Amino acid sequence: MGFPLEAKNKDLWVFIETLNGKARNVGLELLNPGRELVTSQGGQLVAVVIGHNCDEAVKSAVAHGADKVYVMDAPVYDHYTTEAYTAALVQLVEKDCPTTLLLGASHLGRDLGPRLAGRLRTGLTADCTELGIDEATGLIAWTRPAFGGNLMATILCPNHRPQIGTCRPGVFKKTEADASRTAEIVKDDYAFPAEQIRVKLLEVIKEEGEKVDLEGAEIIVSGGRGVGGPEGFEPVRALAHALGAVVGSSRAAVDAGWIPHAHQVGQTGKTVGPKLYVACGISGAIQHLAGMSGSDTIVCINKDADAPIFSVADFGVVGNLFEVLPVLTDLVNKSKG
Ligand SMILES: Cc1cc2nc3c(=O)[nH]c(=O)nc-3n(C[C@H](O)[C@H](O)[C@H](O)COP(=O)(O)OP(=O)(O)OC[C@H]3O[C@@H](n4cnc5c(N)ncnc54)[C@H](O)[C@@H]3O)c2cc1C
Repeated sequence: MGFPLEAKNKDLWVFIETLNGKARNVGLELLNPGRELVTSQGGQLVAVVIGHNCDEAVKSAVAHGADKVYVMDAPVYDHYTTEAYTAALVQLVEKDCPTTLLLGASHLGRDLGPRLAGRLRTGLTADCTELGIDEATGLIAWTRPAFGGNLMATILCPNHRPQIGTCRPGVFKKTEADASRTAEIVKDDYAFPAEQIRVKLLEVIKEEGEKVDLEGAEIIVSGGRGVGGPEGFEPVRALAHALGAVVGSSRAAVDAGWIPHAHQVGQTGKTVGPKLYVACGISGAIQHLAGMSGSDTIVCINKDADAPIFSVADFGVVGNLFEVLPVLTDLVNKSKG
């Protein structure tokens, strides 16, 4: 195969990550900006599903907007391995090179994307938080934070195809699933030879303790330095419990050792997009806002009326969180009553 590859069409592919045969949110989210890009540029929105017994993932990709789905379903793809997944995607791209390929900036995507870009000798913009079209060239404008988040860099990939990018989970919102949608399903029976995989998966050990699924959460209640110490998270947890929410935090609280890093929201934590985000004792530094300003509704509780968090909040309470949170929690519990 000669490099650089030439795009065979204007299609945009979205890699759909699977887990136990089901689509993970990050891929389904990317179908949403993918649809906008093909609407303005032409081409089809194509999902690529690689896994084992992954019919359900294929259905989800169609319901969330794919026009066409490439499916590689084989036991060798049951668990992610860099070698098998890279080889699978490379041979698909070589057959039908699209203009653009999107992956999630998840652990898997951060491993697979660069490997793929290396093999295909094309460019990759990692960790994007915004996608658009560069008006002058018609290329994808990949935007991502740079220099510690102090500026946003927009990167183009002018000469090589496909243009590849990974996008942070939670930045884009999934569209509502439409089970009545149909799409062209193209099964590809390429199965990477299992004996050639040099890394063997010996065992899967489930993480013990509290699972912190900030990216999939519909409601998040977060605490910052204003909670004053580890015990200050108790009223935050109580409200989260009443609302069925996941507990988040600012970096200041994590750095102070009050709560584990898995809870951190922001530029160096998770990017989240819940329906409701409640920020308690968080000032609203730019690096925190970078991770949560896409939330549908933002509520903040802060005793400083000039704190920047109020500028992004839909509802704000100027007050002491230790007085406000118990009242709120009580109201929520009573309303459920
Ligand atoms: C490269 C880089 C990456 C970063 N990444 C992240 C990141 O991912 N996430 C992140 O959060 N930060 C990040 N930061 C840090 C960020 O700049 C801020 O320092 C941090 O977000 C501040 O956290 P905070 O709002 O909890 O604390 P503060 O800024 O100290 O704010 C505490 C707030 O609590 C209020 N308060 C105090 N007591 C009470 C009370 N009793 N009731 C109500 N309100 C009260 C105060 O008025 C104040 O507004 C990063 C910084 C850098 C340089």
